[in-house]
Amino acid sequence: MCGIVGYIGQKEAFPIIIEGLKRLEYRGYDSAGVALFDGNNLNVCKTKGKVADLEEKVNKSIPTHGNIGIGHTRWATHGVPNDVNAHPHYSNSGDLVIIHNGIIENYESLRKELTARGYEFTSDTDTEVLVNLIEDVKLKENLKLGKAVQVALNQVIGAYAIAVFDKNKPDEIVIARLGSPLAVGVGDNEFFIASDASPFIEYTKNAIYLEDEEMAIIRANKDIKIRKIKDDSLVDPYVQELQMNLEQIEKGGFDHFMLKEIYEQPSAIRDTYRGRLLVKEGIVKMAGINDNIERFLNADRIIVVACGTSWHAGLVAEYIFEDIARIPVEVEYASEFRYRNPVITNKDVVIAISQSGETADTLAAIKLAKSHGAFVFGVCNVVGSSIARETHAGAYTHAGPEIGVASTKAFTTQITVLTLIALKLAKIKGEISLPEFRHHLQELELIPEKVQKALESEDHIKMIANKYKDVRNCLYLGRGYNFPVALEGALKLKEISYIHAEGYPAAEMKHGPIALIDENMPVVVIATKKGHYEKIVSNIEEIKARQGKIIAVVTEGDTNVQRLADYVIEVPETLECLSPLLTTIPLQLLSYHIAVLLDKNVDQPRNLAKSVTVE
Ligand code: GLU
Repeated sequence: MCGIVGYIGQKEAFPIIIEGLKRLEYRGYDSAGVALFDGNNLNVCKTKGKVADLEEKVNKSIPTHGNIGIGHTRWATHGVPNDVNAHPHYSNSGDLVIIHNGIIENYESLRKELTARGYEFTSDTDTEVLVNLIEDVKLKENLKLGKAVQVALNQVIGAYAIAVFDKNKPDEIVIARLGSPLAVGVGDNEFFIASDASPFIEYTKNAIYLEDEEMAIIRANKDIKIRKIKDDSLVDPYVQELQMNLEQIEKGGFDHFMLKEIYEQPSAIRDTYRGRLLVKEGIVKMAGINDNIERFLNADRIIVVACGTSWHAGLVAEYIFEDIARIPVEVEYASEFRYRNPVITNKDVVIAISQSGETADTLAAIKLAKSHGAFVFGVCNVVGSSIARETHAGAYTHAGPEIGVASTKAFTTQITVLTLIALKLAKIKGEISLPEFRHHLQELELIPEKVQKALESEDHIKMIANKYKDVRNCLYLGRGYNFPVALEGALKLKEISYIHAEGYPAAEMKHGPIALIDENMPVVVIATKKGHYEKIVSNIEEIKARQGKIIAVVTEGDTNVQRLADYVIEVPETLECLSPLLTTIPLQLLSYHIAVLLDKNVDQPRNLAKSVTVE
């Protein structure tokens, strides 16, 4: 995920681009760059850091005059955030520049082919491969830029929103999208290009949203021609009038970043497994595991270290690693682990989980584990973060920036990565049969659309939130794979609505919490069909017998629990080990709506910070 801005018209491009990038910084902020054409020369400036750093550097280093330009604020997926990996990227001839949002999955094989044909690469990005592929087909087949982009994109697997400029044809910008957003603002003889409409809202209210698999050639003082990338057919531009204000646009029309991020989960999970989950081939591709496979196979155990929501994802991992890959797992709070003189050996594999990759306690736990010879594998969202650098190997979640302090998509994408690892190891160890393995891959691939389905219950959940918003306490119960989900559901409620909530393994209720249950206590129970279903139904009966109020998360079509519960929220059916990816969705929405109804600051709850860089 990143921010893209472009301008072509009569105005000075630089101020529009730089202000636009500032508005898109919520989409990514590890490095930034611009390419400006001043009528004769193409001037490029890029830097690690924020858009403000770029602005300073541009003003010192390149002419800012010109009516055509493109700009980018990056959220690294391939290559650490530094000046070289920042966009725009040049082609080898220096004629083409590109900015790109997304992931080119087959960049490695393309890079090899291009290298064999004499191309050289200065960055680690997939994007530089794409711009050279475009150049290669352009030169080989003597094509115009638009056609070359089209031919190249038909060889690409992955997701992209791109803008490409050719300094030999300086009256046009070519753009294209698949899986990443791209809007075009239509002014008087001028066009604005952006990841969302926020960079151009004060200049024009007329916007065209490019659809997936569409590309456009935009010409100064002329027109925009939209075509389908696959079959070259022309598309009639649909110009819509924008009704939203700036803030609404930045939040994608949602009231809060948290809600936006909840709704991003289908695409975030897809981005996480993109290029790794190869269902047709029946493989899970993860270089960080392949390259270190002996460490994993010879491990006595896996120790997961994490904090907060990441710790809950670690608990889900414990279930799946033990259940499917038959590897013993211990899950530790990083803050406890680092200080309690744990026994760690060089036969241990430590998996450190952190969205930001900067969590101080987790970082300290990693250093401790390394000093005892353990192999440490990181699962982070932020590329090039301290934890990503400190670990021996790792896998990024590729969830895009998470702005809301209460983690949502970070949790589900961490579980997705950990599930992929568990499945891969299970297969290599021969702990799972091939048909079963394939079945798991197929089911995992379906998760994004099932999450989408789960999101459809929002109105119903809002109604339930309205009923319970004034309670002071709430219990969350789950068993097996859904016990960590109960903990995570309770944490979400605490974090943003300041209601006291506890997550418990459902059977443990009898050993204490049951004393709390009376007619005022809402109990959220995860009671999906697979995995201890009868047992959890008995737990629900026990709560009912004590007049507790039951909100149950159930499998679609379940009528049994409906009979007992005050409210049921349905989620689609899936494999038991994948169910946390679905059952967590209604719990996120429930806490979100309770907090909104209580008028709390959802995105920045009191006393909390997004990344806990102090112990
Ligand atoms: N994959 C590209 C990179 O790592 C683009 C990432 C983005 O969307 O910002 O540079």
